[in-house]
Amino acid sequence: MSSVVFCSSLLCYDLYLSTDMQRELIETDILCVGAGVAVLSAVLRLLKRCADGKKPSVLILEKGRRIGAHVLSGAVLDPEPLDDLLTPEEKAALPFKATVHTEAFHYLTPWRSFRVPWTPAPMRSEGFPLAALSEVTQYFGRLCEKQGAEIYCEFPAVELLEENGRVIGARVGDKGLDRNGRPKSSYEPGPEIHAKVVILGEGACGVLTQKLIAARRLAAHANPQAYALGIKELFEVPPRPENAGRILHTFGYPLDRRTYGGGFVYGLDDIHVAVGLITALDYRNAGLSPHERFRRYKMHPLIRPLLEGGHVVGYGAKVLPEGGYYSLPELTTEGALIVGDAAGFVNSVRLKGIHIAMDSGVAAGDALYEAWNKNDFSKAALDRYPQLLRQRSGWKQLWRKRNVRASFDYGTLPGLLATGLSIFTGGLLPLGRLHRRPDHEGLQPLRKAPEQLLFQDAPLQFDILSDLYRSGTQHEEDQPGHLVILDREKCRRCIPLYGAPCTRFCPAEVYKLPEGAGEISMEPANCLHCKTCKIKDPFENIDWRLPEGGGGPGYVEM
Ligand SMILES: Cc1cc2nc3c(=O)[nH]c(=O)nc-3n(C[C@H](O)[C@H](O)[C@H](O)COP(=O)(O)OP(=O)(O)OC[C@H]3O[C@@H](n4cnc5c(N)ncnc54)[C@H](O)[C@@H]3O)c2cc1C
Ligand code: SF4
Repeated sequence: MSSVVFCSSLLCYDLYLSTDMQRELIETDILCVGAGVAVLSAVLRLLKRCADGKKPSVLILEKGRRIGAHVLSGAVLDPEPLDDLLTPEEKAALPFKATVHTEAFHYLTPWRSFRVPWTPAPMRSEGFPLAALSEVTQYFGRLCEKQGAEIYCEFPAVELLEENGRVIGARVGDKGLDRNGRPKSSYEPGPEIHAKVVILGEGACGVLTQKLIAARRLAAHANPQAYALGIKELFEVPPRPENAGRILHTFGYPLDRRTYGGGFVYGLDDIHVAVGLITALDYRNAGLSPHERFRRYKMHPLIRPLLEGGHVVGYGAKVLPEGGYYSLPELTTEGALIVGDAAGFVNSVRLKGIHIAMDSGVAAGDALYEAWNKNDFSKAALDRYPQLLRQRSGWKQLWRKRNVRASFDYGTLPGLLATGLSIFTGGLLPLGRLHRRPDHEGLQPLRKAPEQLLFQDAPLQFDILSDLYRSGTQHEEDQPGHLVILDREKCRRCIPLYGAPCTRFCPAEVYKLPEGAGEISMEPANCLHCKTCKIKDPFENIDWRLPEGGGGPGYVEM
């Protein structure tokens, strides 16, 4: 074996060459997985605090083809953490849309709506900016690069590297393998990257994070995470200046009484309206299709006029972790820490996670600053991160709503009651800790035919394939499948019992059951990386793996 070594100011490369394999070894001080707002906040905070001294080298891996390509949100942004991250000039240049000036909360029945007369203070958003999070993420990425961080897009981290019980880095996925896993002429082995510490910010249900949590039992004490699928369309409508800054949240229709979730309509500016539906993935009705419910939502008499005359310019779907405080894993282990949605930092009552992702980034950045100055990256040093995070307002919000999400497992009315009690008692009630089941256990056998399209060919209605076209999703077709059905025998049991729910819960129509075939077929190239199939399959029979770098959605302004 021969080896070539060369150094740059930030990174030191060793290139090991052998006859059958060339895998580059890159060394850096801090390795980050995922260029989401949580990681970028951590990096920005750390590098800015190191401004007067020696800065650590920071390398950020992102699986999307550019920063923000896989980032989808609402989004109304609670701006509280921004002062800890940005200078006044940087804040002024943020790519924000309108500011919320009018908000309303409605309960919907199929034909009517009832406005909730009063929004409790902790849930109000008046004065908050509206934003496309994919754009904000790009902006944060540029600021991180200015501070000296390196961001590698199309570089999925596919495996954490460990040595003597410590995480020491990650391996990047290979490029140029064919569908049978054999190298093509374009083959490039992914490098191994070694670091003093790894920040995991993969977003909800991250592949490496989930494996680490399971292997090290980091969530042994916690409730199973409660996920929800968010489906969103971005509309361009005829100019209506009064729309900019007007937001609407709804609950009730089109979801049934046993399904947690709700809709949102955000007037981003006078011609752009974001409309979305969040469906909790512990729903019971095996015939339910979240995309079909979303189509029904747009036809409701309260929602339809807000979209009329418009056309869709963006589509996407993503899961968010809603379990809250009692679903949080331990946030550190030897050599690694977890930030943002990867840990589960979303306040589901407010439908807000960006500010807590930023809070976790600020706390992680501060902890790493101390670790860097002492050259001590032991677990004890990394444990400063949760200590610092507990003092921040995002963490306190989760603590005050700690039993809210689990209370909805007992039905909508107990859930609403618990939410009210939590708000009025600052989280004191309900007492103790409510427990919950994993989402995939919620499904009940199919008793009647799965739901059909209600509003076929109506205006504002798009089938999944037309919607997908607006998500920019694409994958190299000749590569090993990134969606793997682990046991076909389980499918044969699932089809008569649950009616192949994967063909309905996937918002990208990846799974199909052709008539008379008796066997599920797949179209992995359509995948939006939302992870619903991994979470909701009743037999836990779908393995979601990281595809070749650059594959997946190409979100713009989402
Ligand atoms: C429909 C919807 C509406 C929402 N509305 C709001 C709102 O109005 N306000 C609000 O505050 N919050 C909202 N949220 C929540 C908010 O979007 C999240 O809390 C926030 O995006 C979390 O940021 P993050 O950095 O932790 O993760 P993400 O934004 O998910 O970023 C993770 C990044 O990591 C990358 N990645 C993942 N795995 C790997 C890997 N192995 N290798 C390399 N890269 C990887 C991904 O491609 C992605 O770029 C909403 C969420 C949804 C789904
Ligand atoms: S295949 Fe799975 S991860 Fe991909 S879009 Fe469908 S449900 Fe989401």
